[in-house]
Amino acid sequence: MEPGLSSSPHSPLYTSLLVAGPRIRPLTQIHARIVISTLHRNRSLLTKLLTLIISAGYPLYANRLLPSVPNPDAFLFDSIIRASSRSTLPLHSLHFYLLMLSSSLRPSNYTFTSLLKTCADLSASDLGRILHSHVLAAGFGLDRFVQTSLVVLYSKAGNLIIARKVFNRMPDKSVVVWNALISGYEQNGRAGEAIELFYLMRKKGIEPDDATLAILLSACSQVGDLALGKWLHEHYIQGKNLRLGLVLGSSLLNMYARCGQVAKAREIFDGLEEQNAVSWTAMIAGYGMHGFAEQAMELFERMQLYGPPPNLVTFVAVLSACAHGGMVQQGREAFDSMKFDYNFIPRAEHHVCMVDLYGRAGLLDEAMKFIRDQITGEPEAAVWTALLGACKMHKNFNRAAEIATKLLALEPENPSHHVLLSNIHALAGKMEKVEEIRDFMISRGWRKKTGYSLIEINNVPYMFRMGDTSNLKTVEIYRYLEELICRIREVGYEPMTDSVLHELEEEEREVALRFHSEKLAVAFGLLSTGAGSLIKVVKNLRICGDCHLAIKFISGVTGREIVVRDKHRFHHFRYGLCSCQDYW
Ligand code: ZN
Ligand code: ZN
Repeated sequence: MEPGLSSSPHSPLYTSLLVAGPRIRPLTQIHARIVISTLHRNRSLLTKLLTLIISAGYPLYANRLLPSVPNPDAFLFDSIIRASSRSTLPLHSLHFYLLMLSSSLRPSNYTFTSLLKTCADLSASDLGRILHSHVLAAGFGLDRFVQTSLVVLYSKAGNLIIARKVFNRMPDKSVVVWNALISGYEQNGRAGEAIELFYLMRKKGIEPDDATLAILLSACSQVGDLALGKWLHEHYIQGKNLRLGLVLGSSLLNMYARCGQVAKAREIFDGLEEQNAVSWTAMIAGYGMHGFAEQAMELFERMQLYGPPPNLVTFVAVLSACAHGGMVQQGREAFDSMKFDYNFIPRAEHHVCMVDLYGRAGLLDEAMKFIRDQITGEPEAAVWTALLGACKMHKNFNRAAEIATKLLALEPENPSHHVLLSNIHALAGKMEKVEEIRDFMISRGWRKKTGYSLIEINNVPYMFRMGDTSNLKTVEIYRYLEELICRIREVGYEPMTDSVLHELEEEEREVALRFHSEKLAVAFGLLSTGAGSLIKVVKNLRICGDCHLAIKFISGVTGREIVVRDKHRFHHFRYGLCSCQDYW
């Protein structure tokens, strides 16, 4: 027991501290009473006082008080470091840690868990790495609590290789630590690894909790893994009768919406016990993303009448639904309502949606006017990109070249801008300019991303790349695809030969039989499933114009429903049409 500790818990001053809690006014009064009492050098009383002062958010006050404590011990430093790390000014925990070291006191595993929490909260991974070396030097490298804090820190900071290394070395892993790593993968766009880790977790006999399920569902939305998402829903949420609270409910409906099951998402939404702006927004965005702009607007109207007040993200979902659905007037009204009825100051995302709305509809002058009148200061690069996309779509090459030059001045090192400019030149037939840009890009070492498409048949995923021949049914797939192309040519399909060259994010032009991955995946899907079943393909890049056209025709001649989820949105092909109404 600490010297002096035994007497203080019984002192009335200690009781007053407990009553006061982390509130600065009563604490200063008690401090004054301590100073004039016989207990003014009582270490445990002062430790409690300091801890509460820090929790109240006054670390500098605590810092001034610290020298009056006789022989401060490791317990005192641990307490104030922990209080700092949980306070609104967590960085001070590091200051107290340095004081602790300069007093030649040894940090404990508790000291490190508090300090690592500070680093995780501040996403200060460099600082975390320095502390990690202190952890090892102090001999706490195998301490379970410290290891957990390290995994949390590195996962949050996106440093997943080190997070995984620490994780692998842990002999027994709490769920906290599984969650931290799974969520680290998910947050950093590595949903596949998050899902793999979940399988490993199950193998070890650890069951996911609500938080893990929410993370996993959002991982499923990222990769379009409907089968797993559905299984999680049926096996855990329904099977264990879990309550669909706000977080889990929104993740579930978002998963169904993003995996192409809009009706199911709506069913979940309608059945939610609690609905907040996040769940309403997820449902509106779900409709918008699938091209159901009218349903999105209907729901938005209902939200304004009976739901929670919309937030800035809701308006992004609404405006983007209008843009993709070609609903110019509704979009304009929503934008005005956001400004004048809800008093929101539009952000870059809203500006981009509006420019997109006008641009897609071919109202390029309106788009320019919007940029001039509504955006104060220099418009964000994304605004120009949206306008440029529209100029390209409507073949206004002069204006496009003008904007691309502006964009390049704003962000000279962004490869996609060079690609866009190159495409515009290609479309305008200025091939020497195209070559110039291509050489420049090669000199920078900027390469194309390779495209691939995924399709799941009987819960087995199959991957296709352009001109892929790795599938066991390759011969059959190609033969069938050629036959399909012949059939759709008879009803009016013409391959789009003016497909854009040198697109960093798009695949090369099709040459002879080097079919794009999405065509191969669709053909394989049609071959492998019976009439009436939905074909669902996920593509990592944007679908190209020619594949889009071909799949529209294919859906018509085969009478099958095909969903392609590309990098930006869903395309529901049915009866020869696509839900995006050719806006994408
Ligand atoms: Zn294609
Ligand atoms: Zn489409």
